[in-house]
Amino acid sequence: MKPKAILFDMINCGGCSRCVKACMELHGFKGDPEQVKDLSATAYTCLVPEKEDYTVRNLCRHCVSPACASVCPVGALVKTEEGPVVWDGDRCLGCRYCMVACPFSIPRYEWDSTVPCVRKCDMCIDRIREGKKPACAEACPHDATVFGDRDEILAEARRRIRKSPKEYYDHIYGETEIGGTSVMFLAPFPVESLGFKKILGTDPLPALTANVLKKIPTVLVCGGAALLAIWWITKRRDEVALAESNPRWKGMNR
Ligand code: SF4
Ligand code: SF4
Ligand code: SF4
Repeated sequence: MKPKAILFDMINCGGCSRCVKACMELHGFKGDPEQVKDLSATAYTCLVPEKEDYTVRNLCRHCVSPACASVCPVGALVKTEEGPVVWDGDRCLGCRYCMVACPFSIPRYEWDSTVPCVRKCDMCIDRIREGKKPACAEACPHDATVFGDRDEILAEARRRIRKSPKEYYDHIYGETEIGGTSVMFLAPFPVESLGFKKILGTDPLPALTANVLKKIPTVLVCGGAALLAIWWITKRRDEVALAESNPRWKGMNR
């Protein structure tokens, strides 16, 4: 499968919140979509006011080389061949390294949960694998959030800029920044709030995070290994307890 991508076109967006509503409904999150002002463990996307009455969506950029995945000590975040960067709640240690590493401040933590982990948009990977569009792209009535193969999405973005050069700022945010992203943006003006400040450059961030990780004292690395061991033992103990409570498994070797 060719890598997929989402294009958000700020000029076409009317701020109707249907994308936010569709995402919340898909995940069973409660609340008024029009009141969602920031990302949270129960809001994987939101609308943020921009200057001149424009609105911009915030959601995971699904980086081509994701810094979040590069720092996760247990491989709970993974870049899939389809494009989405997905997370595995069963693996997440709750160390929150990914929150520190993400250049766009995307991952959110379940502060209210007794077994907290990190949450974020997964680009509706299950729907993509069923041949469907992400729920937000399907819900958008104005072609402001569109989905497709990454190369087609780039071609569509270039087409829109070419067709209306006076309306669009001539730049596709996310085409090359930090090695490219799988959620890209068109805007009428240079937009710093998208997080694509020039300072990020075009080099993938994992190389930088790897250099930083090399400098982390061994004691912290050992601490990470210890946490991983504790996590594995606790998980195994829970699995054994579950198995022992199941009459079908009684007396079986495990
Ligand atoms: S935007 Fe942040 S959370 Fe999303 S893939 Fe990139 S580094 Fe990871
Ligand atoms: S791609 Fe899916 S999870 Fe991500 S914001 Fe859209 S509806 Fe929500
Ligand atoms: S559904 Fe489309 S037009 Fe409505 S807020 Fe979302 S991106 Fe904008």
